[in-house]
Amino acid sequence: MRVLITAGASGIGFAMGEAFAAAGYDVWVTDVDAAALAECPTTWTTRLVDAANEAQMRGLFEEITSAGGLDVACANAGIAGPTARVEDVAWEDWKTCVDITLGAAFLTAKFAAPLLKAAGAGAIILTSSTAGVFGYPNRAPYSAAKWGVIGLMKTLAMELGPAGVRVNALCPGAVSGPRMDGVLQREAAAKGMTRDAVYDGYASGTSMRTFVRAQDIANMAVFLASEGAARVSGQVISVDGHTENPDPKP
Ligand code: NAD
Repeated sequence: MRVLITAGASGIGFAMGEAFAAAGYDVWVTDVDAAALAECPTTWTTRLVDAANEAQMRGLFEEITSAGGLDVACANAGIAGPTARVEDVAWEDWKTCVDITLGAAFLTAKFAAPLLKAAGAGAIILTSSTAGVFGYPNRAPYSAAKWGVIGLMKTLAMELGPAGVRVNALCPGAVSGPRMDGVLQREAAAKGMTRDAVYDGYASGTSMRTFVRAQDIANMAVFLASEGAARVSGQVISVDGHTENPDPKP
């Protein structure tokens, strides 16, 4: 079985690669960071491909087709975008965030769908976010794009289900690591708060009072791809320690 994971050289995507490899999959990852790709396990197939670049993604899928096709596509690429009040968000920053965060998911689905439909089986797993099920003050482009990912997933599930292809969205809560460290720092600056106070704002809105780990998301991705989830499609699955109230302070 073969899995493609976009943005798989670090963070959640890398954890997905490890989890799928442990489950016996042939792992293909793309990323825009050549140095991080070079650090991936040598058993993985790594490609320097921007998941939001149509020509590069078309080329990648031609190669995957030649290699025998695909069983699972994890559309995982997304960028945090600006942390700012809506009136301060630059149009260019909006477009960049939505292009990558929603557009890359679209391109992954666009090119994976024919392969999976031809096989009459398979799964697409889209990485959305807690920001795709709640409103997130000061994160307008990111939140809008992640809600868009949910809409894309619901549509794909209806479109591909008759061909035996399942499509689900994963919503990670805030994940410990460099990305959230950056978000916390920027949000602290924007709100005039300390980094720890911003962290507490996020963590206190979850039942478990903590950030989650990348491998928590990866484990759910492997389950969603498995026979155990054979009738799970069109679902929004949060792995977030149960967020009830994401950072309520605008
Ligand atoms: P990250 O910021 O750590 O980046 C992971 C990798 O993505 C990096 O190696 C980077 O080079 C690569 N990348 C960025 N743009 C790319 C592109 N256009 N094409 C290919 N690769 C690209 O990301 P992460 O925290 O692991 O997040 C992965 C996904 O999970 C994203 O969609 C993100 O929005 C979502 N998410 C993350 C969190 C979190 O707290 N980290 C929470 C909810 C959702």
